[in-house]
Amino acid sequence: MLTQKQHDQLDWEKTAGMIPAVVQHAVSGEVLMLGYMNQQALAETEKTGKVTFFSRTKQRLWTKGESSGNFLNVVSITPDCDNDSLLVLANPIGPTCHTGTSSCFSPTTSDWTFLYQLEELLASRKNADPDTSYTAKLYASGTKRIAQKVGEEGVETALAATVNDREELTNEASDLMYHLLVLLQDQDLNLSTVINRLRERHAKA
Ligand code: AMP
Ligand code: ZN
Ligand code: ZN
Ligand code: ZN
Repeated sequence: MLTQKQHDQLDWEKTAGMIPAVVQHAVSGEVLMLGYMNQQALAETEKTGKVTFFSRTKQRLWTKGESSGNFLNVVSITPDCDNDSLLVLANPIGPTCHTGTSSCFSPTTSDWTFLYQLEELLASRKNADPDTSYTAKLYASGTKRIAQKVGEEGVETALAATVNDREELTNEASDLMYHLLVLLQDQDLNLSTVINRLRERHAKA
């Protein structure tokens, strides 16, 4: 994960052998937790691909999720500008905090993280009872109906903009984004795939 050069540059002396590591959700950007890694914890994290800290409470290596199963699967590890802290991007299996919330810093989430969490909720509604959830009913009505809603909300969004009604535009754009997320889920396509297409185009531009 870290290059040899990045390893050699880590400042273990300044950090008294314990480098603070911020763990961030690899897709949503949500900050999940902060822990400390000694050299052994970092080696274990790189070897297993599961975030492992030195627990100051337990006074031993602690792989997050070792008893709960809520592991943090490492995507990348990056040292900061002066090599005395680490940023770990990870995909969490289940809630990261032992209190059951996604992040130890919950409920503080950015707008973009909220959008990701809404997408996760909409995905979970695929298995819900259509009598208890509008989203589940929408899935049950079929792809054609969902696609039609996206078309309608797109037109309503456009109309609201042309008549200069900001309140209506905000409402219709919300309707559009919600129905678009449902359509993408119906097609087993994640918003992240769409965002990455935008990134590809941006890289070319
Ligand atoms: P786990 O590593 O998820 O199997 O949890 C094992 C134990 O570690 C829990 O019972 C808590 O005491 C502690 N723990 C789990 N997650 C956290 C966390 N995010 N921050 C601090 N302590 C935690
Ligand atoms: Zn630093
Ligand atoms: Zn916590
Ligand atoms: Zn509408």
